[in-house]
Amino acid sequence: MKTKQIERVLTPPPPHMVGDGFRVHNYIPSGLGVGFERMDPFLLMDYNSKFYFPPTDKPRGVDVHPHRGFETVTIAYNGKVAHHDSAGNSGVIEEGDVQWMTAASGILHKEYHEKNFSKAGGDFQMVQLWVNLPAKDKMSAPKYQGITNAEMKKVALPDNSGFIEIIAGEYNGKKGSASTFTPVHLLNAKLNKGGKAAFSFPENYNTAVLVVEGSIKVNATDEIKTDGLGLFKNEGEEFTVEATENAVVLILSGEPINEPIAAQGPFVMNTRAEIIQAISDFNMGKFGYLE
Ligand code: MN
Repeated sequence: MKTKQIERVLTPPPPHMVGDGFRVHNYIPSGLGVGFERMDPFLLMDYNSKFYFPPTDKPRGVDVHPHRGFETVTIAYNGKVAHHDSAGNSGVIEEGDVQWMTAASGILHKEYHEKNFSKAGGDFQMVQLWVNLPAKDKMSAPKYQGITNAEMKKVALPDNSGFIEIIAGEYNGKKGSASTFTPVHLLNAKLNKGGKAAFSFPENYNTAVLVVEGSIKVNATDEIKTDGLGLFKNEGEEFTVEATENAVVLILSGEPINEPIAAQGPFVMNTRAEIIQAISDFNMGKFGYLE
C-alpha cells in the first residue's frame, strides 16, 4: 500500500453568517477554490469554528428554507442545534450528535440554536456537510437520521491513543450506523496528545481532514493546526494522524459520484432544466409546508 500524501493545508477562509446563528468558514467549495468536483460527493463544508454567542431569548438560526437533490449532515461539537422539517421530523442535536437529513426530492426545514442553549449563551461549534446524491436517487423520498453520540460505534486505539467514532462508513472493519447512498466514510478521531491513528481509503476517494480541536501531524510531516483543513492527493491509500496536543479531527472520504453538477442556492441537480424545475416546484408549494 502506498501513502496518501497531503496535497494542501488550508487555514480557515474568512467567515460569513448563515442566518444569524451560524458563523461559518466555507471550506468546500470556496475555500478550496476549485469547484464542486474536487471533493465530490462532498459538495459543501461549512465550518462554524468555536465562537461564543451571548445569551438571547430569541434563538438564532436560519428560518424556513428548501433543499433538493442532496443530503445535509450536521455535526455538533459545541452547543445544541434544533431542527424542524416539512416531512414532520424534528429534534435537537446535542454536543457530539449528528443529524443526517436526506432532502432528496425536496424538503423545507429550519435550523437554529436550541432554546436553553440560546438563553444561557455559550461556545458554539459545528460542521455542516452537503453530501450529493446520484441522479437516480435525487428524487427519492426525504428521510431523517438522528445519530446520538451514545449510538455511535467507537473503536479504541492502541497505546492510549484515544478512539475513533464512526458516523458513517467504517473503520478497521467496524461499521457506523448512518446509511448512505454512495460509499462515504465520516469519522471523528478523538486523540490524546501523542496518540496516533492509521487510515486507509481507496486512491480515488476524495479525502480531507478538519482539525476541530488541538493540532496534528499527518504522515509525521504535515502539521495542521486548530481549524485547519488538510486536503489529500488522489494517490495512495494509507495515512497516519498524530496528535501533537489533545485533538479532535473530522475525517471525510468518499467515492466520487462523477456526474454533472448543476447547483443554485439550496438546490443541487444534474442539469439546468432540473434546477428550473426545482425552483418552480418550490414556488408551487410542492416541498410541503413548514411554519
Ligand atoms: Mn438547510
